[in-house]
Amino acid sequence: MNESGLIFQTPQNSSLTEFQTRLNEVSPSFCAAKWKQVTLHLQNGFTHSCHHPTAHKIPLEELKRNPSALHNTEFKKQQRKLMLQGKRPTECDYCWRVEDTKSESLSDRIYKSQESWAKPFIEDIANKPWDDDVYPSYVEVSFGNLCNLKCSYCFPQFSSRLMEEIETHGGYPTHDNFNNLDNLRKKNEIPISPKEHNPYVEAFWKWWPKLYPHLKTFRITGGEPLLNKNTFKTLDYIIENPNPDLSLAINSNLCIPEIQFRDVLEKIKRLLGDGLIKQFELFTSAEAKGKQAEYIRFGMDYNLWLDRINTLCKEVPELQLTVTSTYNVLSLPSYRDFLNDILTIKREYTLNSSQRTALYLETPYLRYPNHQAVFIIQPEMLKTLFSQVTFMNDNLDGTERDGVSLRGFYSSEIDKLKRIYNITASELKNPSPDNNTNRKDFVLFIDEHDRRRGTNFLETFPELEDFYHLCKSLL
Ligand code: SF4
Repeated sequence: MNESGLIFQTPQNSSLTEFQTRLNEVSPSFCAAKWKQVTLHLQNGFTHSCHHPTAHKIPLEELKRNPSALHNTEFKKQQRKLMLQGKRPTECDYCWRVEDTKSESLSDRIYKSQESWAKPFIEDIANKPWDDDVYPSYVEVSFGNLCNLKCSYCFPQFSSRLMEEIETHGGYPTHDNFNNLDNLRKKNEIPISPKEHNPYVEAFWKWWPKLYPHLKTFRITGGEPLLNKNTFKTLDYIIENPNPDLSLAINSNLCIPEIQFRDVLEKIKRLLGDGLIKQFELFTSAEAKGKQAEYIRFGMDYNLWLDRINTLCKEVPELQLTVTSTYNVLSLPSYRDFLNDILTIKREYTLNSSQRTALYLETPYLRYPNHQAVFIIQPEMLKTLFSQVTFMNDNLDGTERDGVSLRGFYSSEIDKLKRIYNITASELKNPSPDNNTNRKDFVLFIDEHDRRRGTNFLETFPELEDFYHLCKSLL
């Protein structure tokens, strides 16, 4: 909705709409990502396809028989079966929510299935038995949880630094005791220490030579991958075994020591300069500006992060850079200023002549923890989000000013924030019965965060002072 109560309509791309029709002919719940995309958390043996559904454990007995069970678990095969039958797997609620909104926004089911790593395989998948083992063409892997940051919405299984904090202080005092290790133990999610034998990493290296030729996209995540030796082992393997069809990607917080940053920079230059791969993408994250970003992503140095982005844009212009912004309640006050920083980089480094973009902004919304989701805001705060969408619209790529066509935000980037606006507006109209619990949890989390990390929420987020007190009054 906009301020006068209308839903932001996302202009439909007709080829995408046609594609949606074709996809729905396979089945209205079919999504190629369930077959062709996988994220592997090798630190604790979890897998999911795609990254929206909660990850599930890879049974070791399945893995002993077949290292491809890293992707083709019996559980996942059952979800594929549901999709082929036109039934909605509940784990894909991220997409069903978008599809059930009364707007024309498209879900990731459509966006993902039309990607080059998915679309060419749809017919093949639809004609094969649901329980076939398949090689994914988009693999995202985390070799371990070693990380120098402990972001507010992160989990100990993904950050060694957060794990240390939780081992010392326990979980946060929210109603569900956010991030307490008992829950992790119950769900068998405690990461294997880097010093111990890891059967999932072992299975990965067994599967790797067969998997590698099928890869279109290979993405290494973490923890912080540039602190993990398996990342550099993989990069060296790819340098030795070039694959000109491969899009290689690494997630990095870019706040690593200079030595690792320089090391990876040189490898990227070699991979791209010698044409050993098709492209290299680097994904990095921020969802606010300055001190507010550093509060959300504890351990981040926002200025260093911006400097590193500038270095990458300058020294490897052929690198594809994506900033992922997981929009959450703490993004609200400074997101427009953050967008301005992104715009400055786009304007500085996007070359009109080659149409090459300096960076792409990807904006998912935070779902969990619920106490940090943007859905907990007061209705009057929605106008701030509205103004951020307006700012992006005003700086649409190609906007003419004084006869000059300025670089700016692509409509697909703007649509992602519009989508968040629409979902938030819809949630505020029909607030969740858990809204008060989430708001209480918000303030319980913040107070404990400030206590154990020595931060000061009200000094860092003066714009949210009234909202903080509103939440506090519920306790
Ligand atoms: S339907 Fe949505 S959540 Fe499920 S696998 Fe596809 S993109 Fe992911």
